Amino acid sequence: MSSPKKRKSKGKQKYKVYDIYCGKCNTHLLTYHKYGAGKGILRLYLANIASPNLMANFVEAGYEQIKQVPNLSCANIDCGEVLGVPALSKSKKWVFRMRQGYFHRKLIK
Ligand SMILES: [Zn+2]
Repeated sequence: MSSPKKRKSKGKQKYKVYDIYCGKCNTHLLTYHKYGAGKGILRLYLANIASPNLMANFVEAGYEQIKQVPNLSCANIDCGEVLGVPALSKSKKWVFRMRQGYFHRKLIK
């Protein structure tokens, strides 16, 4: 696999970086690169989840269809709240459809 260039050009960042937290217990779940102008986070594109690299994990696990992907749930075992469900976007990309009100987001940059 080829890795994308990691060149950082100042002031030309094309995405915003959000941290996503469980709305129930505040556990940090993932860091997300959000492209586009929309304010809300209705769906998370798996390929844009910066860490943990779920997409790589799923590819490694041999998942070929979105229905093989588990729900996005809180990493805190005592909580386990489901925050998003796997789905296909209109352009057939893998996404988590996020349950509004079940998660917090924090703009990092
Ligand atoms: Zn939680």
